[in-house]
Amino acid sequence: MSHIRIISGIKRIALVAHDNKKKDLIEWAIHNKSFLSGHELISTGTTGRLLEANLKQPIKKLLSGPLGGDQQIGSLIAEEKLDLLIFFWDPMEAQPHDSDVKALLRLAVARNILMACNRTTADFILTSALLKEDYPIAVPDYTEYLTRKVID
Ligand code: PGA
Repeated sequence: MSHIRIISGIKRIALVAHDNKKKDLIEWAIHNKSFLSGHELISTGTTGRLLEANLKQPIKKLLSGPLGGDQQIGSLIAEEKLDLLIFFWDPMEAQPHDSDVKALLRLAVARNILMACNRTTADFILTSALLKEDYPIAVPDYTEYLTRKVID
């Protein structure tokens, strides 16, 4: 059985963009500045530095993505300390940290995290009526996996 985690009020939002997508993310963030100003923002190092300069809002900056920042965000997801992931990853260029990117996307799905990987989805999320409600996230239950028999 899954357990319920309520997301309400101020959201913890992670914002990450690969280099070719940073301009898109910054434009999107400026466009949504008034919404974002009411929430807690967390970013990988370089994305965070650019966003902070453009939004004039404090952002918790983690390590740069390829240097562990993606995994730090994954760790926030694993510990249920993140409510929304906006991750503009680049579908046209291999990244040195492709395995970290895959791990982050996988964990977000495994934990049923609200996630947008492009501007269209991000726009729909920000305009969703559900954002203003107490929303019960059904966190999948992995008890069966955790209690599996591994040694005969
Ligand atoms: P960066 O990392 O914001 O430090 O460039 C982004 C990424 O995860 O590639």
